[in-house]
Parts: sequence; structure tokens; C-alpha cells
Amino acid sequence: HAKDVGRNTYRFFADQMNFDNSEYLRLRTGLQRALERDEFLLHYQPQIDLQSGEIVGLEALVRWQPPALEIVPPGRFIPMAEESGMIVSIGAWVLQEACRQAAVWHRAGQTKLVMAVNLSAVQFKRGDLLQTVTEALTASGLPPSCLELELTESILISDTAKVLSMVDQLKELGVKLSIDDFGTGYSCLAYLKRFRVDRLKIDQSFVRHITTDPNDEAIVRAIVQLANSLGLKTVAEGVESEAALQSLISLGCDDAQGYYFARPMTAADAAAFLSNDKASPVPRAM
Ligand code: C2E
Ligand code: MG
Ligand code: MG
Ligand code: MG
Repeated sequence: HAKDVGRNTYRFFADQMNFDNSEYLRLRTGLQRALERDEFLLHYQPQIDLQSGEIVGLEALVRWQPPALEIVPPGRFIPMAEESGMIVSIGAWVLQEACRQAAVWHRAGQTKLVMAVNLSAVQFKRGDLLQTVTEALTASGLPPSCLELELTESILISDTAKVLSMVDQLKELGVKLSIDDFGTGYSCLAYLKRFRVDRLKIDQSFVRHITTDPNDEAIVRAIVQLANSLGLKTVAEGVESEAALQSLISLGCDDAQGYYFARPMTAADAAAFLSNDKASPVPRAM
């Protein structure tokens, strides 16, 4: 069970950690309790097809809501969850919840919607990712082709036989694969021919100043051309303005995601956004 996996990985990592750090201990205890008390939640951010203007997907982004405290963004606890190994059980919960929610929206008629879920390198090294993904799909009834797993370059450059075979097996399940934050990693493109990914997610650091920085525009153009030549789709992250959107359209980027369209939002707000064809940007949540 997910909780037991968490405890076992904790024991494994406990030997290697420096437990003098009380801040670390507090966060670690908090995360363990969060799993047991169901304090994690997902926000969803739409991805827009730039040709049709349709919502083609949603990225699930995890948050932590400790009782009576402010919501904690992933940047504040994912690194710790990775270091402690707890990301294995948190990640399993994220996969289950994201697939469950996507299946609900599919049954409500959003049958083309693809749910994107972030994976951490630790989930490839520890735990049984293949089984976790299979179970999330089976339990929810979501078609595998409607789940996209976002991999980071750090996962792909680790290049162990184990990662290679796991990515292959994930692909065999029929799920989609993308590379998150593309271009910020090790600029080692060799993995693009070894791993059968479907999409490159152009990192927001190149998108943010695309209209004013010619270098950023050149980089995005190169990524789109590279993706086209390899038969991959592109999605731009961090689209915040109409001007950035127009640039991306003219460069031939396929899809876009960013505050300009919508911020990550609760399931209820995302459902409203989905049912509202030409919804305006939703200025709330995180
Ligand atoms: P990411 O996967 O690259 O997700 C995109 C991040 O950019 C999200 O931050 C999102 O809220 C933010 N974002 C989206 N559009 C815009 C925009 O137009 N402008 C700006 N400035 N930011 C935008 P968030 O939700 O805080 O997540 C941060 C990172 O935490 C994610 O980056 C991902 O690496 C990680 N993360 C989130 N959820 C999970 C998860 O379930 N598992 C794992 N392993 N990592 C996760
Ligand atoms: Mg992502
Ligand atoms: Mg990203
Ligand atoms: Mg990022």
C-alpha cells in the first residue's frame, strides 16, 4: 500500500540523511502526516490547441493544504519529498487522483481530454512505477492514451538500462510521454532518438520574454523545428500575454499553457472552465 511504501522508503533514506536539521525533520513529519490525513490536492491548468483554440489537455499540479494553514506550493515540498523518498507515495496518489478526475470529465463528455502528470526521477529509481501507472488507469477506467507522463531531462540522461526499459514499458501501456522544461537540462539531445516521447514542453524561461528577446525567440523557433523534424508535438509553458501567444502561433508551436489562458485551478473551477467554451482567463488559485 502507498503508505507502507512511504515508510519503507523513509527508512531507506533515513540512513543517508542528516537529521540535525530540525527544519527538515518538521517538513518530513508534516509530509508523512499529510499522506495519512489526505492533505494533498491537485490543481489543474488547461492546455490550448493553438489552431483550434480548444482545450486539449490539463496539467495536474500538486499542492499541500495543511489544516488551518496556507496552501503550500510544490516548490516548497517536492525537493524534500524526493530526498526522503516520499515522492514515491505522493506521486502514486497524484497519479490515482489525476486519472480518477480525468475519467470523471471523460464520462461527462470531455472524451478527448489528456491529463498530464509530472514524474520525478526518484519514481523511476524506487517503487514500482509501471504497476502504479497501470493501477491508476485500471481503477479509473481512463484510456491510457489520455494520460501523459511528463518526464524531466534528468530522468532521461540518467540513461540506465532500467530507465530505458521502464520508459519503453510505459510507452507499451499506451500512455503519452513528454519532456518537461525542455531546453533547461543538459542539452544532450541523444535521448530524443532513444526515447519515444510525444511532446516537448518548451520551458517558460524561453517563453517569458519571447517578444522582446531575439535569443529566446531563436531558441523557441529551433525547438519547434527540431520537434517537427522528429515528428513530435510542442507545447509552450508560461504564456502570459497575447503578444507571446501570437509569437508562438507564428513559430508554429502546437499547444500553449499559461496564465494568459488560465492559472492552475481547483477541480471545480477547471470543470467550469471546461464547460465554458470561450472562457476568459480565471484570475484565482495559484
Ligand atoms: P512544471 O511541471 O514545469 O509546472 C509548471 C509550473 O509553472 C507550475 O508551477 C505552474 O503553476 C507554473 N505556471 C503555469 N503557467 C504559468 C505562467 O504563465 N507564468 C508563470 N510564471 N508560471 C506559470 P507549480 O504548480 O508551482 O509547480 C512547480 C513545479 O513543481 C512543476 O513545474 C513541477 O516540476 C513540480 N510539480 C508539480 N506537481 C508535481 C507532481 O505532482 N509531481 C512532481 N514530481 N512534481 C510536481
Ligand atoms: Mg510539468
Ligand atoms: Mg514545466
Ligand atoms: Mg518548470
